[in-house]
Order: sequence, then structure tokens, then C-alpha cells
Amino acid sequence: MHAAPIPQDAAPIIAADRAHVWHHLSQHKPYETTDPRVFVEGKGMRLWDATGREFLDATSGGVWTVNLGYGRADIARAVQEQLLRLPYYAGAAGTVPGARYAEALIAKMPGLARVYYSNSGSEANEKVYKMVRQISHRHHGGRKGKILFRERDYHGTTIAALATSGQAQRAEQYGPFPDGFVSVPHCLEYRAQWDVSNYGERAADAIEEVILREGPDSIGCLVLEPITAGGGVIVPPAGYWEKVSHICRKYNILLHLDEVVCGLGRTGAWFGYQHYGIQPDFVTMAKGVASGYAAISCTVTTEAVFELFKDTPTDPLCHFRDISTFGGCTAGPAAALETLRIIEDEGLLENTTRMGERLLANLRDLAERHTVIGDVRGKGLFCGAELVADRRTKEPLAEAKVQAVVADCAAQGVLIGATNRSIPGLNTTLCLAPALIASEAEIDRITDAIDAALTRLTA
Ligand code: PLP
Repeated sequence: MHAAPIPQDAAPIIAADRAHVWHHLSQHKPYETTDPRVFVEGKGMRLWDATGREFLDATSGGVWTVNLGYGRADIARAVQEQLLRLPYYAGAAGTVPGARYAEALIAKMPGLARVYYSNSGSEANEKVYKMVRQISHRHHGGRKGKILFRERDYHGTTIAALATSGQAQRAEQYGPFPDGFVSVPHCLEYRAQWDVSNYGERAADAIEEVILREGPDSIGCLVLEPITAGGGVIVPPAGYWEKVSHICRKYNILLHLDEVVCGLGRTGAWFGYQHYGIQPDFVTMAKGVASGYAAISCTVTTEAVFELFKDTPTDPLCHFRDISTFGGCTAGPAAALETLRIIEDEGLLENTTRMGERLLANLRDLAERHTVIGDVRGKGLFCGAELVADRRTKEPLAEAKVQAVVADCAAQGVLIGATNRSIPGLNTTLCLAPALIASEAEIDRITDAIDAALTRLTA
């Protein structure tokens, strides 16, 4: 059993953080009166901050990343050995872990063939957008370069990735954005846009309507999250994926699945799309690839797409003229290879499925007793509970109250998340994404904390 680390002298660390660190996604005014939290150490699903406080982390590092938990000596060792042998080489040459990881990954992704390395989910997605644009220029006279994205989805933080943000406020004040990115309706049945029984098929039809309006020959690609993460933990309804896949084939539109959150086991399959029997043309992944132990992202595609960049002696611009400097770091693929091995050796896909069912069942049980829970959704260890002020009207719960639930859980020593604050009125889903190693006791402790917080909220 791991003992709690000796608390460091927290004051100078917190002072340095307060004085010099610009935190992600944060308003800093609150730090004038409350201390910023600084984490020091982790083991399994437990974390300790600089004051020595212990937390059970149901967020996998805040943003669905540390899928195998903290303090994994096996991953650290694999990275150390690789760094001592060869830390880096980039450009037109490979490395041993790069080659080995690509081979191991492709073995999990039938129908796909090529892996392009970079450092973040945003970057991995931008690689696809660039590939699609280049295919359009080289093979369609520059006319098939539009990229469709879906309301509520998120694909990253760079300007082009934000141009495909289905969460309006994420993009607000960062424009102007490049042309050629077009949104399609979301598919969340709880917030239904159509009064039909076959909701999944209807939501897919809505994509076809956009395609016909824009002109099928102008569209190169459709990017979707298999399960929308920050936009509300949205599991598409039955029939959706089959029809979306059919529509893409019908109009020769490449299907790009952003598995930055879902990939590498989070939903109980290697990839979210593999629950639905569909075949994508591009898959991007980042967060869980190396479980947060190193920065790595992958853009994976088919041999058919790769062939479209085939050398032409008369065309010096034919190849993919892109580089990601730190795509040459070997720590990433070394950590990723070890991550893959651990998921397999420790049966973590199976554990994720079992613990995910328990988490979902516990949340449904809470919904029986707390009318503030309007909807419960999820797959594997990726679950959400949407909170409402009124079950009948589905009026979203006030953001301050949602944050009060998150804060109450933290006060009980359990870290949970809530969906993105940037969707006004629709930011009220509690997000639960424990590590894939979670035990029954840990799952129950998470939902017990939520139970207590909701009880206090409505007392
Ligand atoms: N795609 C999805 C679905 C995400 O949730 C995120 C980040 O949260 C990204 C892409 C961007 O990844 P990164 O922050 O590594 O650039």
C-alpha cells in the first residue's frame, strides 16, 4: 500500500504557481482569495496535492488522459530505457519505437495502414484537414476541400481546429477562421431536434441534408467524435453510425473519427468506432495513447489515402509536406507501446466494460433518487449525468449549482469533472472518466460522493 507522500512546504510552491503560471481554461480572479491547487504525486487513482490532501481522481488527470493511473514504474522504465538509447530523431527517418508502435497499433485497427506522429489531439486533427485539402487540390481541382463537423463536438484548440468547434463559445473572440468548415446538427436525443422514433437515422439524415445543400462534390471529409466528450458525453443513438457511414460512402466523403478521448480503451473497446462495425478513413488519437506519461498523438489512415500522395516525378509538391518536430521524440511511442501491452496483459478492456456498467448502473440508481439528474449516458469508463433544474422542461441546472456539486465532491476527496463551460445552458453534465484500472470500491466511492453532493444541493 502506498503511503501518502510527506507534504512539501506548500507555501512557496503555491506562491510560485499563483505568481507565474497561467492555468489552462481558468479565470484567475478566484486565486486572489483561494489557493490554486498544485499536485505533487499520484499512485493508481489517488493524487496528493502540495498541502498533502489526498483525492480519488475520477477524471484521469482532469481531461481523460491518465488511463492507466499514476505511478506506473513499468511505463517510466520503458521511457527511461528508450531515452538512454535514443531520445529523438525527426524528419525523413524513423525510430525503433516509432516503427514498433505503428505496427502494434495497426494490428488493432483492421482496414487502416499508416500512422503519422505528432504531439497533441489538435495537431493530429489538423494533419487530417491538411491531408484532405491536399487531396482536394491534387485530385479534385481544389473543389472537394470542405470539412463538415458536428455541433457540440470539439477537435482542438488551434485556429483551424477551432474552425471545427461545435461549441460556439470555444471559438468566440478567436476569429476570423479559415473558410470551408461547415457544421451539421448534433445527435443528442435527450435534447431532441426532431420528434421521431428512429432518432439515430433522423440525425444522420440531417447530415445528408447539409451535404446536399453544400454540394456533395465540394465536401472532402466529415469529422465526428465517436462519443462526444466535452460537449456532453453524447452516445449517438442506434442506427446513427451505420447511416452516417453509408452517407459518406455514397458521396465519396472521407470519414474522420476523432478518438482523442475515446481511443485506446476508454469505452471498453480499443476504439470507440469499433462498437459500431464501421470503417473510418482517418482516426486521430492522443490523450490515452501514452496515458499521459509522454506527449504523443497519431493520425491514422488507410493505404488508399496514403496512395493519393504517391510520388510523381514531375510534381515536387505531391507528398505530404508537413512535419511535427516533436513527432520525432521516442518517449511517446515507447510509453505508448508499454501502455498497449499493459491494457492487454491486465485485461483492461474487460475491466473497463465491467466497471463502466457498474458506474452507469450506479448513476441510474442515483437518477431514481435525485430528480436533478435529467439523463444518464455513457459507454465504458466514460459516463455523464446531465443535471436539470426541472425534469419536465429539461431546463439546465444553473452553472453555479453544477460547479457546487463538483466542489462538494472535491471537498469529499473525489475529483469529478463537468462538461465544458463554453456551451451556455448546455454545460451541465457531470463527467466521469476514472482510469481503466478502477476497482468496484473506487467506482462506488465516486458515485457515493455524487450522491452526498446532490443530497446537500437539494436539501
Ligand atoms: N479532440 C477531442 C475530442 C478532445 O476532447 C480534445 C481535447 O480535449 C482534442 C481533440 C484536442 O486535444 P489536445 O488538447 O491534445 O490538442
